[in-house]
Amino acid sequence: MTAQLLNGAAVAEQIRAQVAKEVAERVAEGKPAPGLATVLVGENPASQVYVKSKHKACQQVGIQSSGYELPASASQGEVEALVRKLNDDPAVNGILVQLPLPSGLDEERVLNTVSLQKDVDGFHPVNIGRLAQKGREPLFIPCTPAGCMVLIESVLPDLNGANAVVLGRSNIVGMPVALLLVRANATVTICHSRTKNLKDVCRSADVLVAAVGRAEMVRGDWVRPGAVVIDVGINRVEDASKAKGYRLVGDVAFDEVKEVAGCITPVPGGVGPMTIAMLLQNTLRAARMAG
Ligand code: NDP
Repeated sequence: MTAQLLNGAAVAEQIRAQVAKEVAERVAEGKPAPGLATVLVGENPASQVYVKSKHKACQQVGIQSSGYELPASASQGEVEALVRKLNDDPAVNGILVQLPLPSGLDEERVLNTVSLQKDVDGFHPVNIGRLAQKGREPLFIPCTPAGCMVLIESVLPDLNGANAVVLGRSNIVGMPVALLLVRANATVTICHSRTKNLKDVCRSADVLVAAVGRAEMVRGDWVRPGAVVIDVGINRVEDASKAKGYRLVGDVAFDEVKEVAGCITPVPGGVGPMTIAMLLQNTLRAARMAG
């Protein structure tokens, strides 16, 4: 292995410890513990796992978390009414609506209902709009993209003029990562399913962020020697040797790319833990904004 391993789990642990310390200090000052409310609609198993791990992480740092669940049959009005109730609850500083919502619900309208001051996921259209505009500051930055930036900047603090390529243009990862890279003065190329000569575009990158959801798509010869490679993907591949019958891999062929890249994140243990650490940080920030 020639690449430096970007250990997201270790960086995330440091951030969580810092959040725990600051939460304890607030409580010692007589302020209430920050509160996070999660809204889970339907029974998507992956979403259930993510929500559970967010509650566990909150508990570990002293953030008060409460989970709200609605059936997949919930109406648009019921989901929005729950969000409004949480907007009005002073014990709730952050609201996280777990995505994706079941089909039939209007995601944009639900996200638009979340109070801007409680939008710890950073997906409110106003926060995303501000992220896209020069000279505007979002109140919150989406967690996975923010986690990617922390890892990138830990090894490349100056992104001025760097060539960054983002594979994927989703609302929750690809596009906001690209916007953050632009804000850091990188020159950014966004790739998607219609991009031509993907391999050549990727090879131009000083920083390559892969968020496509395709197991091990990025091969060793797609990467410029010395590049910083951030693998956001979480994909299950069958593996009879594992008790669960599968293992998790990223969008990057780790064993090949680690021989070429300068730095690389592993899967698991790279971007995933950073996402939760950023959520904790955003929730603490929301509590501070509330007083
Ligand atoms: P989406 O499916 O919403 O978006 C995938 C993007 O990749 C789209 O823009 C799509 O292009 C593009 N794409 C798909 N196939 C190809 C291809 N063959 N060539 C080029 N581009 C392609 O996924 P998400 O952004 O939600 O998630 C991406 C990955 O990140 C998933 O594995 C997901 O599990 C993981 N993830 C990890 C998180 C973490 O905490 N670590 C958090 C969130 C997601 P087009 O727009 O043209 O369709």
